[in-house]
Amino acid sequence: MTRILVTNDDGVYSEGLRLLARELEALGEVWVVAPDREQSATSHSLTLTRPLRLQKLESRCYSVDGTPTDCVNLAVLWLLRDAKPDLVVSGINFGTNVGDDVTYSGTVSATFEASLLGIPSLAFSQEVAEGFSFARSARLATRFVETVLAEPVPSDLLLNVNFPASPAKGMRFTRLGKRVYRQSVIEKEDPRGRKYYWIAGTPEWQEDEGTDHEAVQLGYVSVTPLHLDLTDYRGLESYAGLADRLARRAAEERADAG
Ligand code: MN
Repeated sequence: MTRILVTNDDGVYSEGLRLLARELEALGEVWVVAPDREQSATSHSLTLTRPLRLQKLESRCYSVDGTPTDCVNLAVLWLLRDAKPDLVVSGINFGTNVGDDVTYSGTVSATFEASLLGIPSLAFSQEVAEGFSFARSARLATRFVETVLAEPVPSDLLLNVNFPASPAKGMRFTRLGKRVYRQSVIEKEDPRGRKYYWIAGTPEWQEDEGTDHEAVQLGYVSVTPLHLDLTDYRGLESYAGLADRLARRAAEERADAG
């Protein structure tokens, strides 16, 4: 029996997760292990400085007072340690996770953790605008999961899927888009005269062809394959001069120390 772990960063009671988990029941044994409250933008953080509590809510449904990454760890290395999940599914997130924003995303980071643990994964996010429907997206997400599971799945498969708000015109296989950073910090004063700050700004995007952002804007489901190797392979060549200079400094230090 196919075992599917479902998590998210919006919390265990979020509609996107509930509807997705219910649809996925048609494909196998679904386990939900998700944060007990919203953990959006917690990225890939792991809780190591305090104990974690795991609460059973229903059969095969648990909450954790931690991050999505904590949830994947508790599920794979504890609850399901006897038979690891065949697939980790994260979402459906309330709001898209495209381009540079995937680095902040708890939804996507849950799938990073799955990759590290050797389990293929899919992250699902929903554009929130007029006409969006978690129910519609949950059905399509389930068709996608079914398609992925129909053939042997590489353990490092990680697909980042974003649904447009309108019924999708189709699917586009995309690369990550780039944010135009116009973030700002707003300073205010609290009633006791102490300053506080909000990180603000409306996201804007470079208009590039073939990106996830473009696909969703045009009304397509975007599917982006991701991996965790952050190496800048072009940089290994283009920064060769810098590498020489750094190597020289290291050699000099060594000579001085000797
Ligand atoms: Mn979220």
